[in-house]
Amino acid sequence: MSLDAFPGALRVEDYVKRTYDACLQHGLVSEKTLAMVGVCRDELTDALTEPIRAAWGPPFRMSGMAGMLFLGQAGLRAAQFHAPGADGRQRYVVYAMPHIGIDDDGRVGYVHRPGQDVTTTACGALMAFRSELESGRVNSEVDPYDLEMSLMRQRLLRSISYGTVPSIVGLTTIARDVILDDLGRTAARMHSWSGADIGVFSGIHIHTSDGDYVQPGHSSVRVAGSGDNPVDI
Ligand SMILES: [Zn+2]
Repeated sequence: MSLDAFPGALRVEDYVKRTYDACLQHGLVSEKTLAMVGVCRDELTDALTEPIRAAWGPPFRMSGMAGMLFLGQAGLRAAQFHAPGADGRQRYVVYAMPHIGIDDDGRVGYVHRPGQDVTTTACGALMAFRSELESGRVNSEVDPYDLEMSLMRQRLLRSISYGTVPSIVGLTTIARDVILDDLGRTAARMHSWSGADIGVFSGIHIHTSDGDYVQPGHSSVRVAGSGDNPVDI
């Protein structure tokens, strides 16, 4: 198992601790902060959600297939008055990222799940979409009975050059950036968030047989009134 494709990856517990410490330096303490998590529906992502829960308390779930943020403005609005805020300030810490597996043969995009004899894909949705791109047959219509997959295809296609097939690491990186972009655009519509303190943590969650890792991506803490502070994770 090699993490060569993910320089800077940290064990998931270290990652969450570092993000917690970075938030603490800007006054975001767990008792006064609502955690929000946007990860894939895959149960493997619990390996990230659980340390977040241990650090911050039960998170508001933004999750969608592949970690895409399909909850929209109304979904975010549902969380806007959940932050503790007794001292007159609202504080949020948001973790939003896709995931990927590496199996024991070093195959990226695959994972050995407990109790299974074979390896399966992770992220299954991104791997399936990549196979469609490879086959040259991508259904870009919205199927009401396959909504999240349809929306994921549509959204990612906007960020992929026509006719190209990114590697699974490339596609996961595109998903990471799309998720962060969608978070920013949706949050910008939330008037109540303009006066809130918000930590935002993006990256890629990696499953291996040696445990789970996160390659940190965009990491910042915005304190209302003093702007965005990029933080080193
Ligand atoms: Zn997934």
